[in-house]
Amino acid sequence: MSKLQFITVLGSTGTIGVNTLDVIARHPDRYRVYALTANSRIDPLLSQCRAFSPRYAVVLDDDAAEILRERLRSEGLETEVLCGPEALEQVSSATEVDAVMAAIVGAAGLKPALAAAQAGKRVLLANKETLVMSGSLFMDAVHKNGATLLPIDSEHNAIFQVMPPGFDRGLVASGVKRILLTASGGPFRRASHDELAKVTPSQALNHPNWVMGPKITIDSASLMNKGLEVIEAHWLFNASPDIIEVVIHPQSVIHSMVEYVDGSVLAQLGNPDMRTPIAYALAYPERIESGVGSLDLFKVGRLDFEPPDMIRFPCLKLAFEALRRGGTAPAILNAANEVAVQSFLEERIGFTDIPRLIEAALARVSVVEGRALAEVVDADRAARAAAQEWLEQRS
Ligand code: NAD
Ligand code: MG
Repeated sequence: MSKLQFITVLGSTGTIGVNTLDVIARHPDRYRVYALTANSRIDPLLSQCRAFSPRYAVVLDDDAAEILRERLRSEGLETEVLCGPEALEQVSSATEVDAVMAAIVGAAGLKPALAAAQAGKRVLLANKETLVMSGSLFMDAVHKNGATLLPIDSEHNAIFQVMPPGFDRGLVASGVKRILLTASGGPFRRASHDELAKVTPSQALNHPNWVMGPKITIDSASLMNKGLEVIEAHWLFNASPDIIEVVIHPQSVIHSMVEYVDGSVLAQLGNPDMRTPIAYALAYPERIESGVGSLDLFKVGRLDFEPPDMIRFPCLKLAFEALRRGGTAPAILNAANEVAVQSFLEERIGFTDIPRLIEAALARVSVVEGRALAEVVDADRAARAAAQEWLEQRS
């Protein structure tokens, strides 16, 4: 049995965070929680502190920190409360930490994930936005500091599982021909353009197969999630966009596939439950129980596949274009998408305005190389400003 691992869970109150703690709780002989972090929701964080007794709990603002401190003290719990974005970096890079689950949503997750990579940690990466915004910077940090990067996104975790050993010496040299990235197609797979223009946030938040946080659920409905995942796959596997193919697979049973030059196609299958990739990444290269039930193929019955429709779902096309353009284009795409999703959830724009807003931001903000963090942060800021400007001009 390997030594006890100390884990920081960034975004512990989110969907991925909660699933991570579910897996950790099944293996008290293997894992201890070093730090838990949340944006502002104190109640779930406090219950997690009761259950896992972390050394630290991190929240974003002073008021939330003070309330949490008081409540922990009144219950006699010893968890220390830290506050602010720098504290996130501190608990991601502390010497005592073995692995960091990067499960904050959106651009806010970038700096703490980068801090974990720079500290040479085992990084369990759920926050795909990190790779979309700063792929080259992040991968450099992983390689230079001897970090171990394990993808949590179910598709990338699947691809990682079926990649040949030593694939990082190059996909062509490893005999890999194509990456087949599966997508459920979301709740509007069959909707016409006119129907798409009228969808409400509550319809878009109702994903057929997966239970996820609101941002990624909207991204799944617009296929931007798949677009972000194409960019994520590019960086994780050093794969050219030409060999990444998106396959709509409504059952979400095959989590992705790799095709080899000899014609073999290897797939990873399982119930759509994030505890499988989480358990895989926590224990890699070993395997541990995750709490996920057996896949009942007789109940699944059939597996369907179809090509994506980039006309009804232009977000996927925009993401491929941003990847091909390179530099800070994906960071601009990501930031504009975050503003668009938020505006859609607030009912300020319609569903089909999401790609329009992103396209406008990409047209307005200049793309630079983006090899320095400051350039990425600037691109993110400029894209948010351009997106706001577009929203104001429109109203
Ligand atoms: P979520 O909304 O359920 O949770 C987000 C977490 O981040 C919460 O703990 C929240 O407190 C924290 N957070 C939000 N804003 C923050 C900020 N500004 N600073 C610090 N913390 C902040 O999201 P989720 O569905 O768990 O997704 C998390 C990440 O994992 C996303 O990047 C998503 O794309 C990725 N992911 C999720 C799934 C899934 O099944 N949920 C699958 C693949 C990838
Ligand atoms: Mg995914």
